[in-house]
Amino acid sequence: MAEPDDQIDNQPRPADETEPSSVLASQLMGTLPCIGCGYELHGLSVLGRCPECGLDVGDTIRMLVDPYAETFHELTNPRRTAVLLMGWSLAAAVAAGLCWLMRGLDIFGDITGSGIRLQRAAIVTTGAILVSFICSLGLVRPHAGVRRRGVYLAAFATSMYIPLTIVFWWVHGVIDHGTQKPYSGVGEISVSRILLRLAEAVLISVIILGLRPHARMLAKRSLALRTGQIDRQTMRAMVAAAGVGAAGDILRLVSLPLKGTASEILNLAGIVGVIMGSALFTLGLVSVVIDTCRISRALLTSPVTLESLTTAPSDQSQRH
Ligand SMILES: [Zn+2]
Repeated sequence: MAEPDDQIDNQPRPADETEPSSVLASQLMGTLPCIGCGYELHGLSVLGRCPECGLDVGDTIRMLVDPYAETFHELTNPRRTAVLLMGWSLAAAVAAGLCWLMRGLDIFGDITGSGIRLQRAAIVTTGAILVSFICSLGLVRPHAGVRRRGVYLAAFATSMYIPLTIVFWWVHGVIDHGTQKPYSGVGEISVSRILLRLAEAVLISVIILGLRPHARMLAKRSLALRTGQIDRQTMRAMVAAAGVGAAGDILRLVSLPLKGTASEILNLAGIVGVIMGSALFTLGLVSVVIDTCRISRALLTSPVTLESLTTAPSDQSQRH
């Protein structure tokens, strides 16, 4: 059985019959393109239908208007926050991409017998991590009204970029430099490289978990990310991916004191774990880059509020 309110809402009512305070009875003052066909709905009743495709104006409002927009703290500098957020994820993705390139060249060299090794890539990769570090500072206190505990947590997380950069350079710039390929299976496995990689996994996990609350707080400003139109637990999944890689490293460590086939099998399983963990982590990073694009767009565009749609521009200027 339909509620009495539904029956009323289904009928077009003349404007003078409704209480003037009700925003739902208002005409659309701001610009609002129909989600069905893009027709400009300005001037139509919010209870009406799109004259082009017949979709309820209310459907467009529910999709595009952000009911929480007015509850957000204003960002000190939305453009700076958006740029830092993008830089943070993009620089990390560049670093990951360069790691794949370095290992890919190892394999290419094994197959073709060519000795191409991109030592300079280690310098650029470490530089990319430094850029990600600087940009991550934008997540420490994105706006006023952030809880002190959250600021401390994010600040601690960003500070972990310093040991991460050092460890990363040690692995790729020092240990990998010149001598041998880390996964070719020929010669001695470098224990210090494996231990440093484990340290890397811990540091990366601390950074991700520490920055996650503020990243999610900013993500709430993207209507699509908040309302579950896109459901993401990407950052947690990345910590799990780092765990998979670390498990691979531990298997390789365990293989060291063993001899013969058992050692080879464990080492191989470890390498598979490292590759799987790295692949999942990189996928997560790509996903984070896409999310930060959405968030940055949300930060740079002022959200559509019910007030902006139902109040004439002159009224708005009087209120503020
Ligand atoms: Zn339409």
